[in-house]
Amino acid sequence: MEIRITTLSENTANYGFLAEWGLSMLVEVDGVRILVDTGLSFSAVHNAQLMGIDLSTIDRIVLSHGHADHTGGLREVLRRRSEVEVIGHPDIWAPKYVQHDREAEQYNGMPFSRELLESLGARFNLVREPVHITNRVMTTGEIPMLSGYEEIENNLFVKEEGVLQPDKLADDLALIIDSDFGLVVILGCAHRGIVNTLYRAQNLTRKELVYAAIGGTHLFRASKERIDKTIADLKKMGIQRLGVSHCTGFHASAQLAREFEGMFFLNNAGTQSTLP
Ligand SMILES: [Zn+2]
Ligand SMILES: [Zn+2]
Repeated sequence: MEIRITTLSENTANYGFLAEWGLSMLVEVDGVRILVDTGLSFSAVHNAQLMGIDLSTIDRIVLSHGHADHTGGLREVLRRRSEVEVIGHPDIWAPKYVQHDREAEQYNGMPFSRELLESLGARFNLVREPVHITNRVMTTGEIPMLSGYEEIENNLFVKEEGVLQPDKLADDLALIIDSDFGLVVILGCAHRGIVNTLYRAQNLTRKELVYAAIGGTHLFRASKERIDKTIADLKKMGIQRLGVSHCTGFHASAQLAREFEGMFFLNNAGTQSTLP
């Protein structure tokens, strides 16, 4: 089994590509081409074109959660690939907000209506449970928070009857590949915690070894204690490739690069990885 992951959109970019806050990765495995997230606006389709990647032939779209930096490119993608199944959680249209410091809250949820996206060919499969794409490729469904030290950021909200309530990010999910060489987990933002996400992958597949985790780890505002515990748990899982993106942040990235020397890479726009 060979897995190819191409990062189409990320906060930073390799030479010649556009960078944009958000994430989008094309995962090619088991004869299927799965687009995980779509970036914030048009960088994913722009960079795909530069790399000669034909988005009109993708087989599935998986949305890791409803935030605009993962769903905002969906309209542009659908303009190139109509009639495609889009897998996500029913809460992806929850009215999501972010609050930076003392500023007023900002809407950061899905920027398009379901009707518009369906008119462009999206066939939504929105469920709380895992979805199998092939025998060995599946989504996590809802991710239980078991690690005890990973928390959802306290500046993320949903608006209920005009009142901001903490967003539990029930819609946060990841893609699991149960490969011959261990689990490979493709992360969106990992709002519910990278370790919780990997536990979910282990529990669903009943496999222990995590070969690779690639994507957003949401450690950019994590405490030193949380980063240290995350590193210890990743080492216990036997991780051999760690490609971090997006919401990992400079500080955590530097520490992970040191601790996982030879296994770590910055997974930014234009990066292509072949596993194993
Ligand atoms: Zn997010
Ligand atoms: Zn994000």
